[in-house]
Amino acid sequence: MSASEKEPIVIDQHLDHPRTFRDNTYVYPVISRRSRGVSIGVNLNPDKICNFDCIYCQVDRKTSAVTRFVDTEMILSELAATIDMVESKQLFHEPEFQNVPEPLQRLNDIAFSGDGEPTTARDFDVIVKRVAELKKAKGLDHVKMVLITNATMFHRPKVNEALTTLDANQGEIWAKLDAGTEPYYKQIDKSLIPFHRILTNLHEAALVRPLVIQTLFMRVDGQAPSEAEIDAFCDRLNDILADGGQIDRIQIYTVARRPAVESVSALTKPELDRIADQVAQKVPRLVERFYGPEAI
Ligand code: SF4
Repeated sequence: MSASEKEPIVIDQHLDHPRTFRDNTYVYPVISRRSRGVSIGVNLNPDKICNFDCIYCQVDRKTSAVTRFVDTEMILSELAATIDMVESKQLFHEPEFQNVPEPLQRLNDIAFSGDGEPTTARDFDVIVKRVAELKKAKGLDHVKMVLITNATMFHRPKVNEALTTLDANQGEIWAKLDAGTEPYYKQIDKSLIPFHRILTNLHEAALVRPLVIQTLFMRVDGQAPSEAEIDAFCDRLNDILADGGQIDRIQIYTVARRPAVESVSALTKPELDRIADQVAQKVPRLVERFYGPEAI
């Protein structure tokens, strides 16, 4: 690992991310490895519908959805109450948050994520704007707004508008790219959306602001991705950089919780290190590593 790469500390709460909290429908706090602190998640897909069908997805689709509707006012009310719990430290008296070390008790971000692709939510632009207003009203300019996305909808004007709102409010876009080639993309993300749509969206978004690229590599039937696939993945990122696109960092992680498909398992630490080393050698950007449970 080079000096420019970081390996975050890992605690039990990092490996258990229920998207439910008390009576909340949409908002849930987690201790996030990637955030290195508290991330308040806003689940904009309570219906559990996603336009990807990733073979590693950890969303529990065997149990039925609590609701199919996204209620903006309820989101804001749950979010305000959860922010207050974190800021007052009351959260860390709750049983599942009692042992969180002090450095991880800071509120790092509000993250739009959840049980599907958040940008497909009907009022996504309005919700992002209202959350930004709430964050500002609470004096939380140091807290980021993070969009965790598969980048499939960036070309839609309302989504693009929401990205602009994020830019003006300490936003970061954490965009998924799990493959370097169309066949591997189809095997892993199992979407009808063409690979080139995602690549074009990433290119265009990266021309406007730096992106964080999030990549999950895994074993499928015991096999890690090939060196050729990782090379192609690096080529896709270098294509973005060559066009003047901005990439802040690349997060490479593996399966941390039970995936949807049994043939999927976590990379070992040496496998993830080999891939991260290959990426770090070929793409001139910070590479962060997030190991699976066996390595922790
Ligand atoms: S994009 Fe996320 S929510 Fe959708 S299937 Fe993939 S991992 Fe699951």
